[in-house]
Amino acid sequence: MKHMRIAITAVLLVASTGALEITAAQSAPEREITNVTGDLYRFREIRHVGMFLVTPDGIIVVDPTNPGLSAWLKDELDSRFGLPVKYVIYSHSHNDHAAGGEVFADTATFIGHENMRANLRKPPADAPLLPRERLWDANGNGRIEYEEGNRYAQMAFDIMSVDQSDSVTRSDIWESRFGNRLLGRIVPPDITFAEQMTVTLGGKSVELHYAGFGHTDDTAVVLFPDERTIYVVDALTPDRLPFEDLDGTFLPEWLQWLRYVDALDFDIISPGHEDVGTKADLTEQINYMRDLIDGVRAGIDAGLSKQELVDSLPLAEYSHMRQFDNWRAQNILGAYEILISNER
Ligand SMILES: [Zn+2]
Repeated sequence: MKHMRIAITAVLLVASTGALEITAAQSAPEREITNVTGDLYRFREIRHVGMFLVTPDGIIVVDPTNPGLSAWLKDELDSRFGLPVKYVIYSHSHNDHAAGGEVFADTATFIGHENMRANLRKPPADAPLLPRERLWDANGNGRIEYEEGNRYAQMAFDIMSVDQSDSVTRSDIWESRFGNRLLGRIVPPDITFAEQMTVTLGGKSVELHYAGFGHTDDTAVVLFPDERTIYVVDALTPDRLPFEDLDGTFLPEWLQWLRYVDALDFDIISPGHEDVGTKADLTEQINYMRDLIDGVRAGIDAGLSKQELVDSLPLAEYSHMRQFDNWRAQNILGAYEILISNER
């Protein structure tokens, strides 16, 4: 069992942050709880961070993350506060943040954006590939061969135990991201919201805001108004580039998403990865995303090849941000594929 947990943690780490950061992660404790302000806390396992708010009538948890971490968190909450978890809120449907809720299911109501419901439904075996996946499907057989896919499609071969000489379907790729095989079940939301929702408990409140398509189509911005803090995951990571090749994300909508969030009233950004930030970090993310989209669009219009596009867009003023050297080219190539596949 210990072996399995270590294996899962390793896959998670590589999946969400890139293997190059393993060394840095090892210097911090594997799991910890830190206070943000007042009764609002972050809980962390390696580079994944969830949050909880303590009220006199119980606790609100955001993103149970995975079964190992949520079981540990439940013990910590019981011993520190002796209060039940009454709500579990989801930032979005990706399994490396949304799994692990079952440990709270006997006391908690689960809440997420309404698009989570469809995203958690397994596509049938003959479901068509997504537009970007069709772009990769060079031989047009409606499936992805190992060499055709990006790293997430390639991960599906491992997770689904498909031989690399074979191919994976839309359904396989979904299963590797939302299914049970890697991180356990995602408890579906009991309550969903479309635009906004306020959760109140013990005299405290949490606001959920939908800012449209961005990292996914089901991302909630979780706003703690008294604490003037937002919790956002993957769609806004202060002082870090967006993840790798922007798998599964929406462009150019993501830029509008960031601008919507900028209009909310808060001071602190508490992200699902990396450290807390401020509105200045959000401004930088907006500028980066604008320059990325505009630059890639201009390159497409000029008929540049992929390599010419990468060379033509140094984005040098963002070179101080985390993962710039690892992910700049991947961001550009991902944006290229997303913008191209929009037009098909
Ligand atoms: Zn995600």
